[in-house]
Amino acid sequence: MKISVLRSHEKALLRLMCLALFLCSTSLLQAQIVSNDKFKQEDKFRQLEETLPTPNEFRTASGAPGEKYWQQEVDYEIDVELDDKLQKIIGTEKVTYTNKSPDKLNYLWMQLDTNILSFDSDAHLTDTSSHLGKVGYKTMQQLMAKETFDGRMKISAVRDEQGDPLPFQIIKTMMRIDLNGSLSSGQSMTFSVDWSYLINDSQSRPARTGYEYFEEDKNFLYEIAHWYPRMAAYTDNTGWQHKQFLGRGEFTLEFGSFLVKITAPADHVVAATGELQNPEKVLTETQQKRLEQAKTAEKPMFIITPEEAKKNEASRSKEKKTWIFMAPFVRDFAFASSRKFIWDAQGHQLQGKDKPVMAMSYYPNEGEPLWSRYSTHAIIHTLDVFSKYTFPYPYPVAISVNGPVGGMEYPMICFNGPRPEKDGTYSKRTKYGLISVIIHEVGHNYFPMIVNSDERQWTWMDEGITTFLQFLTEQEWEPDYPSRRGEPRDIVGYMKGDYQVPIMTNSESILQFGNNAYGKPATALNVLRETVLGRELFDYAFKEYSRRWMFKRPTPADFFRTMEDASGVDLDWFWRGWFYTTDHTDLAVENVRQFLLETGDPYVDKVRRKKERDEEPESLSDIRNKSLPKRTEKFPELKDFYNEYDDLDVTDADRKKFEDQLKELKADEKKLLETQKYFYLIDLKNQGGLVMPVILKLTFDDDSSEMLRIPAEIWRLNNKSVSKLILTEKPLKNLILDPHRETADTQLSNNEFPRTISKSYFQLEKSKKSKNEMQKREEEQKKATEKDKPKKESEKKE
Ligand SMILES: [Zn+2]
Repeated sequence: MKISVLRSHEKALLRLMCLALFLCSTSLLQAQIVSNDKFKQEDKFRQLEETLPTPNEFRTASGAPGEKYWQQEVDYEIDVELDDKLQKIIGTEKVTYTNKSPDKLNYLWMQLDTNILSFDSDAHLTDTSSHLGKVGYKTMQQLMAKETFDGRMKISAVRDEQGDPLPFQIIKTMMRIDLNGSLSSGQSMTFSVDWSYLINDSQSRPARTGYEYFEEDKNFLYEIAHWYPRMAAYTDNTGWQHKQFLGRGEFTLEFGSFLVKITAPADHVVAATGELQNPEKVLTETQQKRLEQAKTAEKPMFIITPEEAKKNEASRSKEKKTWIFMAPFVRDFAFASSRKFIWDAQGHQLQGKDKPVMAMSYYPNEGEPLWSRYSTHAIIHTLDVFSKYTFPYPYPVAISVNGPVGGMEYPMICFNGPRPEKDGTYSKRTKYGLISVIIHEVGHNYFPMIVNSDERQWTWMDEGITTFLQFLTEQEWEPDYPSRRGEPRDIVGYMKGDYQVPIMTNSESILQFGNNAYGKPATALNVLRETVLGRELFDYAFKEYSRRWMFKRPTPADFFRTMEDASGVDLDWFWRGWFYTTDHTDLAVENVRQFLLETGDPYVDKVRRKKERDEEPESLSDIRNKSLPKRTEKFPELKDFYNEYDDLDVTDADRKKFEDQLKELKADEKKLLETQKYFYLIDLKNQGGLVMPVILKLTFDDDSSEMLRIPAEIWRLNNKSVSKLILTEKPLKNLILDPHRETADTQLSNNEFPRTISKSYFQLEKSKKSKNEMQKREEEQKKATEKDKPKKESEKKE
């Protein structure tokens, strides 16, 4: 379709014109609205109303769901078999779709996201690379698998409620189902889909789902996600969200209930979204008893011990078992299955909930001793801290699974990768990497699993907000927890670089994904909390946002508006700067000027001025001219009145003038004349473009100090340079801008006044000479002869 449009010359031209117009309109958006050719500066405090979508009855101007807010509902009943021989998923689902929109629908869209794992996927076809140098074996293996592996979903049937086939068309990662007639507002319909696909080997075809094969015990561990045809979202602001899955923009989905029957080998243990409905059929009596005990346990306890899991690895049951799970109010469903699972659990009572949440971890022996020590603790800690800042965790279980997927979230269950070495030791990076990834992925239950933002459009709304809360959660784990993201100083390197786009950029077009969608928004929110709003205001507004949009679908505008609405602070400059531009913070103290009030008394003022003049340094010429004979010395008659007169001498007229002035002053005016304060003009420059609060630490001559926090609005009339007048009781010794580095200021050297010498160290190193080829050969020969020598008895021991 698109090609035929382009072939038509006229239409192509029109498209180009539209494109050009669009490009102009985005960059000159402000210029179109108001024209400012005189005072050449951007209005960084301009309200965002012109940029944000117009409020309506679905979404209010205050950022809340409107009176007529609606969202679709999708309920699934799924029967699925995990084929452990072929590593294959075979499923059938009954989908009940309720059209709560005011619109009539002629077709439905479904996501077939596993289609991305195919040699003909857009993700693979549009992947670019610019260089081939040294390639690792693993990379090579993955490159080959991209060319050959076919992970596409085979759709064998789509039927209506009567069992009659419904026409459908697969468009890459999407499928359109055509309805017989249309689905009106308020109507429900049920249809079924049968499908199957090959599960990807996460070694050669890594993804957000997949299996891991363990060579030593010949077992598989499955982490299964986007495994069934899922309803695409239909919304008031986007219509059908059926933007193709290219790998980064994750899953925009509808809420509903799930009843899922998972059939797996009888000796597998299955972990899944939702509550297990038939424990008596799939668990041993011991496991059921332990699970009951775990509900009220003080610490995580084993449901399956490491020894039992090890034993289970050798089992090869020919039987199958069906695990039944039920999950209401979720937007997705994922599961994990293996013979290798150790399983631990602890019930956790959250404030405001009547039943404990079961925090559970599933991991192979390869995850030990790290996993039994940290995973379930990290889950519970996350639920505590995230709930404190948002709403009580509403689901009955929270699960963390160790397997091939490095870190990926689904409702109630997440997949996390870090493992210790084979010998059980682990690096600091692995330890904190594990705790952090569990906090992050469990945290995603809140954003976007419950606060259901559009992940395919905006990565920051779930990743940035989760990373921000992850930082708060990490800092409550232990003192000085080594958080990777959140502290303003950690984002400085990224902020000053050129290779970046604004946060408000679609997921697939982001440069520096981690910094853009995780690090920068997380830092921005931390700055908003600590520096702009303060904790009390921020926490109140943020909780309001979380609660307003719990189990609903917010957009960026809803977030921006709610944070302002609930805090009572105009933040448009902040959203504008941090989210819509690539400006960075670089404020500078250019100069500090001191002023003291003159007394008006000539005996004080003139005497002081005279002293100042006399202290002025002599010029070089003055000094050298001193010895030259002067004409007035030779002819004294040339001297007159002015050779003696000093205009800084106090005269009677001066004294009289001062006395007259004093007589004219009222008492309060006289008092002003006696003001003893120090007046300082602090000249500030904004070199990075981002307008930010000015935070000053003033240190006085007596070494006492004082903090001065000036809101960002200081830049509203001139956002490049301003002078701030301050009055102090004591003379100022120096000042430092942003002493706690809370604004992500990219250049610290201009933050001090007066400037100081920057100090650091350098190292001496002895250069090592590398061996030449002849020396290397000689060494090889020497080694070879030593190897041939018969070994002494004592050396043979291993
Ligand atoms: Zn994430």
